Amino acid sequence: MVEFHNSSRGEEMRVAQIQTHLLRSRLKRPLGFSQFYYRERALVLVEVTAEDGTTGWGECYGPAEPAQEAIRACVENFVVGQNVFDTELIWHRVWQRYLDHARHGPIMAALSGVDMALWDLKGKLTGLPLHRLLGGAGVEKVPCYATGLYFRPLPEDELIRESLQEAARYVEAGFRAVKIKIGKNLTFDRQVVEALRAAFPHLTLMADANHAYSLNEALWMGRVLEDNGYFFFEEPLAPHALEDYALLRSKLEVAIASGESEQTRFGFRRLIETGGVDIVQPDLAFCGGISEGLKIRALANAFGVDVTPHAWGTGIGFAAALHFHAVAPPNPGRLEGELLFLECDCSENPLREQVLSETIAVEDGYAVVPNRPGLGVEVNQEALAKFQ
Ligand code: CA
Repeated sequence: MVEFHNSSRGEEMRVAQIQTHLLRSRLKRPLGFSQFYYRERALVLVEVTAEDGTTGWGECYGPAEPAQEAIRACVENFVVGQNVFDTELIWHRVWQRYLDHARHGPIMAALSGVDMALWDLKGKLTGLPLHRLLGGAGVEKVPCYATGLYFRPLPEDELIRESLQEAARYVEAGFRAVKIKIGKNLTFDRQVVEALRAAFPHLTLMADANHAYSLNEALWMGRVLEDNGYFFFEEPLAPHALEDYALLRSKLEVAIASGESEQTRFGFRRLIETGGVDIVQPDLAFCGGISEGLKIRALANAFGVDVTPHAWGTGIGFAAALHFHAVAPPNPGRLEGELLFLECDCSENPLREQVLSETIAVEDGYAVVPNRPGLGVEVNQEALAKFQ
């Protein structure tokens, strides 16, 4: 049994309190993907305050109420009173305490949000941007793909027309890559894939099925994506069907991406070592935070698997992903290599648009890596009050 002790060296700034903010916003129109329609967006923001009053911000991805409750009931105790800089110690204490019952789920989402806030705080207290704390950004801006083209409750021909218009707006805004939703039904899926390719012959396109398919269906769909030159096929299969992922990947050339519903290096180890993925997509607001994201990336890198974070919350989570991605090691690396596209959610989300005083600049499809301390973002207190 390993016991952890507080370090008496270095900065002695301690955590004074943790506050959570459960934010909700109804959507103007339902936002559909292969599993259901979202009618609202809801998430938990985490505010960690140090003894000197400095605050750090994080967010949790996944069901909001359980994550909020898990912070209060399970995580807070291990953080308040601890040294702000002891992110590894804190992570392992929480992990060890709940190892028997909660290796996966809301407690890990809760820890992710708290860990993110602690990293923001470490940056603010040292005056360093997060990318510097993580080892140094190789780039000033990160290429992004637009995530959109969700399903709407419309006749399918109208939906395809609307999807083409939506993609045109992203191209107009400078995005060189767009990810669409599939997994509605096979007829529609093929139509939308082909319509997008026909309308945008040179655009990098990806398709996300949100685990809608059986193995045979995924094989069929994978070939449709290959015929249309799609870059990756996201979550073709159920997240637990690891052997099917490996079979699918052995029969397709299109890259397979997955991992937004996975957590910790241990979960990602199973996903990676079965050989079913080319790209993993940990969500830093869910996978165990920035601390765990670094370990997941090191693991993936050793297997030659690429990493690009999933991000589907506010600008806080997007900023974390942006800093994290900007310090990605080259994989494999070459003179004229470029980072893998980072996800930039463009679907309707008033929380994302309003929760920061100043949104992160995405110019010509590139997100500019913030240079201010920590995550480099400021929370808009009025928006917080409005969405509580
Ligand atoms: Ca996805």
